Amino acid sequence: MTEPCAVTNESSDRYKAMLLRSQQQHRLIGVHWELTYRCNEKCTHCYLDVLPPGARLPGELTTAEAKRVIDELAELGALTITFSGGESLVRRDFFEIAAYARKRGFAIRLYTNGILIKPEVADQIAALHPVAVELSIYGADAATHDDITTLPGSFDLTIRAARLLRQRGVKVILKTPITRENWDQMEAMRALATEIGAGWQYDLTIVPKHTGDRSPLKHRMNDNQLLEVFRREIDPGSWHLTPYREDYRFCGIGLTSLTIGPYGEVFSCVGARVSAGNVREQPLVAIWRESPVWQELSGLTLGNLPVCSTCELRQYCVRCHGNAAFEDGDMLGCSSVAYREARLRRQALRGKGAK
Ligand code: SF4
Ligand code: SF4
Repeated sequence: MTEPCAVTNESSDRYKAMLLRSQQQHRLIGVHWELTYRCNEKCTHCYLDVLPPGARLPGELTTAEAKRVIDELAELGALTITFSGGESLVRRDFFEIAAYARKRGFAIRLYTNGILIKPEVADQIAALHPVAVELSIYGADAATHDDITTLPGSFDLTIRAARLLRQRGVKVILKTPITRENWDQMEAMRALATEIGAGWQYDLTIVPKHTGDRSPLKHRMNDNQLLEVFRREIDPGSWHLTPYREDYRFCGIGLTSLTIGPYGEVFSCVGARVSAGNVREQPLVAIWRESPVWQELSGLTLGNLPVCSTCELRQYCVRCHGNAAFEDGDMLGCSSVAYREARLRRQALRGKGAK
């Protein structure tokens, strides 16, 4: 979720200025596209209720519909498309869709578990010249990873994919949701990524499924584990306290990005999933220009979040409005998971001498 959530998180001043202008003009920049909810893994912590890879489903956007959506994204002037799932490579037309996106000038990024990436598939991916391929790993060893994916052998296949892509010069990022099963393997995962020539990113927040099923939450770290991770990972010198400004935004919801689901739904973002329409019922161009959703959501500033604006932890909080809605039932209220993280983050920072 990192990229679509960004308000201004790049260091280049020119990039920041461009992003700020785009936010002010409601210009679409980035699209997160869930091409399918089918997947060849069934991870125990996943926020999606995924379907088997071979499920025959009515309703996924056809190749022709996907190309029409790409044409509309080009008309809107969008720059990047992130293909995600489920597992997007289970779609037989994935490369046709991705190649069309490249032809229309988009920078593309691919989220995948890598299971299907054999040498010839790695060649096809490299030919797309993606900005990056982001591969999910759930542990530094096969036992930990395969327990989470519930697919024996998946660790070896994902690592094979990372190596094949690196051999072809593709930028690879290994990504890990940190859970109570793998929190003590962070250094080992970082080292594994370095050995492969890949980057490594992690995410601390495990969320309920969008169906309301709370079973993923049993994988969250307990307080002691999370505190230890913060103590290890947070650098007080680079942690910026959330400023108290009425117009401060916790994230970039509604500003320059949107999410498309497999059945044509257009959502605000992956986490909050506020529906703005469906590309089968209305052109995407009209959804982006006319839906009231974008203005409503981009108005979610600190001043418009009554509980947050008076919260003593707000300076340490990295809330996701979607988590507040899905886990706590109120998008404008406190997110309990953000509260816990903020409380422990403050403790870790103060322990390192920060104010
Ligand atoms: S609501 Fe959550 S998922 Fe959506 S943009 Fe904000 S932080 Fe990201
Ligand atoms: S801890 Fe809760 S109330 Fe406080 S800023 Fe975060 S989400 Fe808002």
